[in-house]
Amino acid sequence: MRKKIVAGNWKCNTTLSEGIALAKQVNQLVAERGNKETVVVLGTPFTHLASVAAVVDPARVSVSAQNCAAEPKGAFTGEVSVAMIQSTGATYVILGHSERREYYHETSAILNKKVALTLAQGLTPIYCCGEALEIREAGTQNAFVQQQLEETIFLLSPEDFGKIVIAYEPIWAIGTGRTASSQQAQEMLAFIRGLIVAKFGEAAAAACSILYGGSCSPANAQELFSQPDIDGGLIGGASLKAEDFLAIVNAF
Ligand code: PEP
Repeated sequence: MRKKIVAGNWKCNTTLSEGIALAKQVNQLVAERGNKETVVVLGTPFTHLASVAAVVDPARVSVSAQNCAAEPKGAFTGEVSVAMIQSTGATYVILGHSERREYYHETSAILNKKVALTLAQGLTPIYCCGEALEIREAGTQNAFVQQQLEETIFLLSPEDFGKIVIAYEPIWAIGTGRTASSQQAQEMLAFIRGLIVAKFGEAAAAACSILYGGSCSPANAQELFSQPDIDGGLIGGASLKAEDFLAIVNAF
């Protein structure tokens, strides 16, 4: 069956030494008390990837970048390519996070390049989608998310689509402490899975891990993860505290 995944997104937090200490702590807690069914991913800053990959047990904890360059290599000062990411030992790349879409103007066209490069390098994209508060209040969130998917990962071949993890993150729930209710999250994830059925078929939909993200915490993870279409979480704030993160890893 499809994977249960809990992926931390550290964002622009932790110095290198703090990040290594956090990764070591998570690695130890997962080894001692972690649910063996959960795929655990740490989304660290680029500067930490190699060091974090070196201190975790790759059989239990995977490492992810939070972005990648839209070009394979060359004269793009300050960019980090997927080949560079792969060379650190990281195996996932978070793409299309709402903060990147909003603050760095990432469009569907840019994301399509990043998804293609990530897949070509053999890394797994965690592809984020989700609506802003005005869209939720207008009741048009389903159409909005459908368009985000149709312009990007729904254009992939069935084979490539099968390698994608999706994270639904309503923007109004990210870092706000205002989580989507388990019913709101379930409704959207069931809607997304239905779209996958229509586009790629039942088997592809049944195999696709779809995560919820947005103020997920030890207090609400169990309720969220008990929903039939929620296969785990993309975790921001709570991923910076090893015990909280472990509690979410164990919330299935
Ligand atoms: C995120 O940024 O992916 C996220 C879900 O953040 P938080 O858990 O802090 O809301």
